[in-house]
Amino acid sequence: MPYFRGVLDGRELQRMEKVLVIGAGTMGSGIAHVFAQHGFRVFAVDVAEEVLQRARSTIERNLGRQVQKGILTEEEKQAVLARIHFGTELESVAAEAEFVIEAAPEHPELKRQLFARIDPICPPEVIFASNTSSISITWLAAGTRRPERFIGMHFFNPVPVMQLCELVRGLATSEETYRVAEELARRVGKTPVCVQDYPGFVSNRILMPMINEAIYCLMEGIASAEDIDTVMRLGMNHPMGPLALADLIGLDVCLAILEVLHRELGDDKYRPCPLLRKMVAAGRLGRKTGRGFYEYSS
Ligand code: NAD
Repeated sequence: MPYFRGVLDGRELQRMEKVLVIGAGTMGSGIAHVFAQHGFRVFAVDVAEEVLQRARSTIERNLGRQVQKGILTEEEKQAVLARIHFGTELESVAAEAEFVIEAAPEHPELKRQLFARIDPICPPEVIFASNTSSISITWLAAGTRRPERFIGMHFFNPVPVMQLCELVRGLATSEETYRVAEELARRVGKTPVCVQDYPGFVSNRILMPMINEAIYCLMEGIASAEDIDTVMRLGMNHPMGPLALADLIGLDVCLAILEVLHRELGDDKYRPCPLLRKMVAAGRLGRKTGRGFYEYSS
């Protein structure tokens, strides 16, 4: 049953329990982890069994760390894992979902197609959220029959650790949709921040030009990767240098976001650095492929 109608009722929201997460990569697996940890049943859908196996192992490993730190007991860890249902059949679980969070790759058409597939299947009350880093929420919403029930829910990597959730209001996003997403973000332990729908929102509008400039510094031989990162850690008090952070985010993701900023804002200050393009072309995508600006052992 849909969990709310008309004006939001807090108790109905508390009863909501089934969340569909589309894409079980870096972000989707983290989102599935966090929702399951806070009592939701999660359907985690991806394209292949091997990806789902990897997602399950990642979640299990991260839950194991929480057990070691005394945040969870071993029984709670098992209960969290049991609340996540991994599968490849999107259509078969869409009808049951009460809230949808999409975390598929940062490709506009792919995301639109995914929402178009589930739009006729999900009950009309169900809210669609996208974890996109840069694609217009207004545009994604316009491809569905529920633009007022569409919102950006931008989580940060690693999701179980990072506090922030940028809530992105599209042109048609209703007040009620915003309030449901805000409540949900709080319910899974995040701090929501309201932003309007402009390219890169706030986080990537500021972060990506900084990462891009760090890559230019490396390309121009101004300093080594380690030294560029040390400048920003010790000089600016950043917990992590921009190149190490780019490796964590994924260089393909960084490139895709910069391309959106460059195209949509039309300013050359956002042009992606040629070295970033070269790294992506070589398949050196950062931690997820074992090599980016740094090398990572498995
Ligand atoms: P990723 O490549 O790690 O994961 C994407 C997953 O989607 C993959 O497992 C892929 O197999 C799956 N997928 C592809 N096509 C699919 C389909 N048709 N149906 C279901 N699943 C499909 O990417 P990611 O880093 O997790 O990024 C996902 C989204 O989150 C992007 O929009 C990205 O911009 C955003 N985001 C990323 C970060 C980050 O730090 N990586 C942070 C915030 C937001």
